[in-house]
Amino acid sequence: MAAGTSLGPMTDRAIPFNRPYEVGSETLMIKEAVANGHLSGHGAFTKRCEEKLREMTGAKAVLLTPSCSAALEMAVILAGIGPGDEVIMLSYTFVSTANAVALRGGVPVFVDIRPETMNIDERLLEQAITPRTAAIMVVHYGGVAARMTEVMEIGRSHGIFIIEDAAHCVNTSLNGRELGSFGDLATFSFHETKNVQCGEGGALVVNNPSLVARAEIVQDKGTNRSRFLRGEVDKYTWVDVGSSYLSSELAAAFLLTQLEAVDEITASRLRTWGAYNEKLRGLREQGIRQPEIPDGCHHNGHLYYLILPSEQHRESFIGNMTKLGVQTVFHYVPLHESPAGKRLARTSGKLTVTEDLSRRLVRLPIWAGLTEIETDRIVGAAIDSVADILD
Ligand SMILES: *Cc1c(COP(=O)(O)O)cnc(C)c1O
Repeated sequence: MAAGTSLGPMTDRAIPFNRPYEVGSETLMIKEAVANGHLSGHGAFTKRCEEKLREMTGAKAVLLTPSCSAALEMAVILAGIGPGDEVIMLSYTFVSTANAVALRGGVPVFVDIRPETMNIDERLLEQAITPRTAAIMVVHYGGVAARMTEVMEIGRSHGIFIIEDAAHCVNTSLNGRELGSFGDLATFSFHETKNVQCGEGGALVVNNPSLVARAEIVQDKGTNRSRFLRGEVDKYTWVDVGSSYLSSELAAAFLLTQLEAVDEITASRLRTWGAYNEKLRGLREQGIRQPEIPDGCHHNGHLYYLILPSEQHRESFIGNMTKLGVQTVFHYVPLHESPAGKRLARTSGKLTVTEDLSRRLVRLPIWAGLTEIETDRIVGAAIDSVADILD
């Protein structure tokens, strides 16, 4: 290809793929946390974040954690998963979904995804279930819901836990019901690449009331310290397995600022998402796929992707975009193809869609506050890049 001719010269500063959002008042809140003189777990800011998330999800309990990975580990402990127990999940996900299971000696069992959403294909769940199946873990890719009505029904009829890895999902819903409120347990991420962030952070959402008491114990080093703090017991002691899955007040103070701005953050991302979807519609005629949002799904603009005709096209597209000053990135490398995935997990059926689409998908920059000028520059670059690679 002829860079500098069909693609034009690169002028402005490069546009990064992600820019962590800042409301502006985070540091004030952190100062307040410091002034409160309580910086460890269970502080006032932690409680306010948990309360806000409980309001949003309607959950029985929400526990703020150091990361979504930590919340996933807790979820797997609470689901009682031990050596040899199987957990059905998708291979097209972040490593933490599978790691949480492998850490307990459990076996991730990968099934294929639906091509229109990149979410677990619920039609493949029944045939993946064995006497060892203990849970199903779903991911709502980009905040677009997996088929939860069907997934919940399968969970109920087989008596197995449903865990939602809702890392992408703050402020999203399916048929009016918040994502993260369906499964027995769900997890959010507040990593700086997510919509609402505090650098590193997460939350465990407990919807199944029978798991609330143990969740508090697992979060606090396997002790009943939460009950002690509420005055329900006069001393606390080691009662179960657990670890330190508590959030620092510094992170919670930062996070509260962001949670209070969640509607503005979502609206800003959705504006960019909508502009991409509208302005890149013409690429469909050139065999490029845009995301599909099933009826009833309210997403949060967490990510915007295109699916190119081949892996080769994607590589050239990313190269062209770089030349035009726009950083674009692919996403999950299927876990069943990874060294640890081969050793610690197994597959159920062929993962044809996973293998195909994971190699063709590319994500465009998106963050709260991405300007219209930047959006237009990215759109222009994408159109030029496609024209160049399909030449
Ligand atoms: C980001 C992410 C995680 C991990 O989140 P951390 O907060 O970084 O631990 C887990 N699952 C999915 C699907 C993610 O996107």
